[in-house]
Amino acid sequence: MDLLKTLVDKGLQRELPTRDEALAVLATSDDELLDVVAAAGKVRREWFGRRVKLNYLVNLKSGLCPEDCSYCSQRLGSDTGILKYTWLKPEEASQAAAAGVSGGAKRVCLVASGRGPTDRDVERVGRTIEAIKEQNEDIEVCACLGLLSAGQAERLRAAGADAYNHNLNTSEATYGGITTTHTYADRVDTVQQAQAAGMSACSGLIAGMGESDEDLVDVVFSLRELDPDSVPVNFLIPFEGTPLAKEWNLTPQRCLRILAMVRFVCPDVEVRIAGGREVHLRTMQPLALHLANSIFLGDYLTSEGQEGKADLAMIEDAGFEVEGADTTTLPEHRADALAGGCGGHGGGGGCGGHGSGGCGPCGDGSAVAEPAAETVAAAGSAADPGEVRTDLVAVRRRGAGTDLPPNA
Ligand code: SF4
Repeated sequence: MDLLKTLVDKGLQRELPTRDEALAVLATSDDELLDVVAAAGKVRREWFGRRVKLNYLVNLKSGLCPEDCSYCSQRLGSDTGILKYTWLKPEEASQAAAAGVSGGAKRVCLVASGRGPTDRDVERVGRTIEAIKEQNEDIEVCACLGLLSAGQAERLRAAGADAYNHNLNTSEATYGGITTTHTYADRVDTVQQAQAAGMSACSGLIAGMGESDEDLVDVVFSLRELDPDSVPVNFLIPFEGTPLAKEWNLTPQRCLRILAMVRFVCPDVEVRIAGGREVHLRTMQPLALHLANSIFLGDYLTSEGQEGKADLAMIEDAGFEVEGADTTTLPEHRADALAGGCGGHGGGGGCGGHGSGGCGPCGDGSAVAEPAAETVAAAGSAADPGEVRTDLVAVRRRGAGTDLPPNA
């Protein structure tokens, strides 16, 4: 297929595909799917070999958020039965992180629900980072605390945060239908603050909220422009008890096409399969490793993932290897740019900076609110009818915030 040859050539050169090429990937047929995976797999191997980076989520503060992000099970008024608790103590968080590290994770993602941290929260997270790094010097720590105020990114960086996550989640055009309490521009601003402070930015999306192919391409092109180092791709988990409980729009094949498109548009960036991996890719998860070079180990923020041991077995069986803490994840040009402080350009790609985004969805794009239904209609939806697999959705009942051991 000429399309795939063109996309591979561009991916190997870090050239931006056209919007039409990205849309064409999403429009490929099931008969072409293995060719698409093979093509995007070449790009993945060029920049990341056969390595899989493992990341481990620690939900520092769960639920009770005043924001209304409609995909999120932690939003105010959510009726999903998730665990609700306030800030973990630094030693509790460090203990939770240790479980992930011993399972093979090289990055710990510290996430807290809420619009954004107070200065006291930033101090508390700083102490948590210190506690984690005392135990595991080489571990990367990513903070995900919502919208940042002036000076907070610098304080987090000074406290040892290596990265900051804040997701764009969906296209600018549809953002208002998903969240009304803050804007797309607020999110972009926080990612840029993190970059300007010298943190590696992590910013991604949630698929399956009823968006069109055009919306997906829009948000991925916006991410390319923002230039994060890592791009988490969440697949919406339509939690029972949330307004999007009926939005089962994804098939394993569509998830693979979305991951391939992200890989072609952001060829040298850490593409991470985030929430919804087990629920939507199901037995196709190993194929997705040919596209993404990073996954979360074990459980998500508010939902359970497959057993950590099953993650490790899948990686080995598929012929990939877990990336060690002594290996640099990013290709040399990106790692050099980040080390040289080039990540702080506040927008405009090309320099190896990044942008990640926000609390919540980085583990489980769950609960979506009423506005998303409008989004579905407005999109005229390209959504495939996905199988309803509520049997695969389980609220997290172990690990942080409970007395039970974590899954790692
Ligand atoms: S994504 Fe973050 S800000 Fe939005 S509702 Fe969830 S916890 Fe709150």
